[in-house]
Amino acid sequence: MIMKTKQDIEKYQLQETRLQEKLDDGTTRCHLCLWRCKLKHGQRGFCQAHVNRNGTLYNLSYGIISAIDVGAIEDKPVKHFQPGTQVMSVGSYGCSFRCDGCHNLEISWGVSALDDLAKGESSSAYATPQDLVDAAKKLNVQGIAFTYSEPAVWLEYVIDVSMLAKENGLYTVYVSNSFVTDEALELMAPHVDVLCSDIKSMDDAFYYDICKLATVDNILASVKKAHDLGMHVETRTNIIPGKNDDVEGYRKIASWIKENLGEDSPWHITRFFPAYKLSHIPMTPSESLWQAHDIAKEVGLENVYVYDDKGCDCAEENMPVSTYLTGTEEEIHQIKKCAASCCGDEGVLLKKYEHE
Ligand code: SF4
Ligand code: SF4
Repeated sequence: MIMKTKQDIEKYQLQETRLQEKLDDGTTRCHLCLWRCKLKHGQRGFCQAHVNRNGTLYNLSYGIISAIDVGAIEDKPVKHFQPGTQVMSVGSYGCSFRCDGCHNLEISWGVSALDDLAKGESSSAYATPQDLVDAAKKLNVQGIAFTYSEPAVWLEYVIDVSMLAKENGLYTVYVSNSFVTDEALELMAPHVDVLCSDIKSMDDAFYYDICKLATVDNILASVKKAHDLGMHVETRTNIIPGKNDDVEGYRKIASWIKENLGEDSPWHITRFFPAYKLSHIPMTPSESLWQAHDIAKEVGLENVYVYDDKGCDCAEENMPVSTYLTGTEEEIHQIKKCAASCCGDEGVLLKKYEHE
């Protein structure tokens, strides 16, 4: 559903931020992610998705769908939870990080989309939790994944959809950067089945570059907390040449996973593709991916997966988001190949958001 009719605009509503602390002076503190933004009336959080209006914090992006896709759960990547099933992936706008190599800029830093929402001028796709679950059932998928940027920044929607999904026999997957508070994890754990989290690096300097507040310890503590809360956890590292492709780093990540999540806990090793400020860095050579794999095996991890593929997210002409909410199963399940000359037949469309 696209918010273009009067009726759709009326359906869209600001939702009160779930984990907010109202302070005496009219400011509020958001406890969804580890930024823990303290905001005055009119101010928006780092993610841009939460705004203080007269002493109460509201989520602007509730139900606003920036991107949507249908595919195998293995592509999330999650390989040890209901393998062989299909999942509908959705994302909204805003993120708690600003990664130099982000492939989802228009979504993760979706400032203009969130500005339009704040001004009541949005033309983004909108779906109530019921709309989304209905679409998932119609498309015959078995789960819903929250991805494309950090889902903590619209946790209100993630939890409402997850509760409804469970009632309808669907599982849910949360694809995270794990810059998430313990409170947010405790809130989601009873409702969300799977956490697939990035461990981007074991070097604080790497995290400092993308988020001044984030440390390796923050990220690892969140991943461990999700595991301890009983969520099914899988981890992923995107290897970027010259940034996190050092042998000692691979060893530290693999050892941490083994010690904290178990030797059978899956680790996904993915290839970096040039983007944004890292456009000058070539894609990760196969040797680096397999070197990380071999070291993880040496350390004793049993389930290490290498994605030595030719992904592509450069295609700009994708099906509109609304097609996924209203289209038929046949329309959605047609094979999606990238027509761009750089990828040809082998590239698969990854992005589904609409370009302005
Ligand atoms: S989700 Fe994170 S970045 Fe956004 S307002 Fe809350 S604490 Fe700030
Ligand atoms: S965490 Fe992911 S979505 Fe957010 S800025 Fe980094 S790469 Fe982009």
